[in-house]
Amino acid sequence: MKAGGALFRVSVAALTVLGLAGTVHALRPDPEDVSQSLYLFGTMVEVEIHGVKEPQARAAIARVDQHLQQIHTDWHAWRPGALETLNAALAAGESARVDPALAQVLAQGRDLACTSDGLFDPAIGALIAAWGFHADTLPEGDPPLDATIDALIAPHPTMLDVTISGTEVRSSNPAVQLDLGAYAKGAALDLAEEDLRAEGITDAVLNAGGGVQVMGRHGARPWRVAIRDPFAWGVVAALELAPGEALHTSGNYERYLEAGGVRFSHILDPRTGRPVTDIVSVSVLAENGALADAAATALSVAGAQDWPRIAAQMGVKNVLMITGQGEIFATPSMRARLDPVGGDFPAPVTLVDLPASPRPRCD
Ligand code: ADP
Ligand code: MG
Repeated sequence: MKAGGALFRVSVAALTVLGLAGTVHALRPDPEDVSQSLYLFGTMVEVEIHGVKEPQARAAIARVDQHLQQIHTDWHAWRPGALETLNAALAAGESARVDPALAQVLAQGRDLACTSDGLFDPAIGALIAAWGFHADTLPEGDPPLDATIDALIAPHPTMLDVTISGTEVRSSNPAVQLDLGAYAKGAALDLAEEDLRAEGITDAVLNAGGGVQVMGRHGARPWRVAIRDPFAWGVVAALELAPGEALHTSGNYERYLEAGGVRFSHILDPRTGRPVTDIVSVSVLAENGALADAAATALSVAGAQDWPRIAAQMGVKNVLMITGQGEIFATPSMRARLDPVGGDFPAPVTLVDLPASPRPRCD
C-alpha cells in the first residue's frame, strides 16, 4: 500500500457560527432568533432564523426538516431509496427514472466533475464503499487491498459516462456507482434555503459542521462564522458571509479510517483510488453550496501545486488551504475576507493568484 495518511491531530467540526454556539447562546438568547438542530447524513444541521415570530420560524424549520429527511433517503447511495435503486440499475446496464430534484443534483454533479477534471467525481461510489467511507459512521478494519483498488479504478468510472436526459439516467459504463457524499450537504443546504425563502424567511443561517450557508443578515450585522484550526483547539480566522454565500470546508481530520496507527483521509483521489495524503483542510466560499462543497473536495485532491488551476476551472475565487505541514495558502480575495481572531494567523498566509484557466466544455 503506497498511500500513507498523515497523522491529524484533532477532530472538531470544521466551521462554527460565532455567537450562536453553546453557552454564549444560552446566556444571551437573542429574542429574535429561533434555532433548531436537524439531522442529515450523519451530521447535525443547525438552522437559525432571525427576524420573524417563533411560529413562522418553527413552521419553516419543520418544512426544511421534512425535506432533509426526504433527501437523506433519496440521496443515500447505500440504503434503500432512490439512489440505491438507480445504482442497481446502472450496474445492470439499465437506465432508470428518478425524481426531478435528484436528476438536477446529478446533472450538477456531472458538471462539477467535468470542471474539476474528475478530481471530484461522484461516480467512484464502489471505491468509496471499498474504503468504508460510504457509511454515516467511521469505518473500521483494514484498508482495501491494492489489487481491490486497482480493479476498481481500471474501468475508470466517471460522471462523464453518465447521461441525464430529463429525469432519465443511464451510464455507458457499468462500473459507475453514484455516491453524492462530497457535495450532497452543499446541495441539500441549497434546497433548504429555497424552502426557507418559500416560507417567507429572509434572514437565516444553516450550519452543517463543514458547511455553512447564509440568507440575509443577522439583524444589523452580517452573519459571522469561523474556520477552525485543524491543528489546535481554536480558529484560523473568522469571516462575515454576505447574503447568499456558502462556505464549505473539507477536512482530513474529521472522517478517516484508522488502521495500523495511520489515518486514511476519507477524500480519495479518483486517479489512484487512494486517499489524499497531505492537504488537511480546504475552505471554499462561493454563492452556491453544491459548488463550494464539491470544490473543497476537488481542491483537496488537486493538492498544493495544482489547486489554483482547478479552482479557476470550477469558477471559484475564494479559497483557503492548510497543508499537512501547517502552511496556509489563500487567494487574495479570500485573504481580504479573513479576520485572524485575536491576533495573527497560526502561520503566514501565502497569497496565490488564480490562473486564467478557462472552464472546460462539459456537454
Ligand atoms: P465532508 O463529508 O467532511 O464534508 P467532503 O465534502 O470532502 O467531506 O466529502 C467526502 C466524502 O465524499 C467521502 O466520505 C466520500 O463519500 C466522498 N468522496 C471522497 N473522495 C471523493 C472524490 N474525489 N470525489 C467525489 N466524492 C468523493
Ligand atoms: Mg465536499
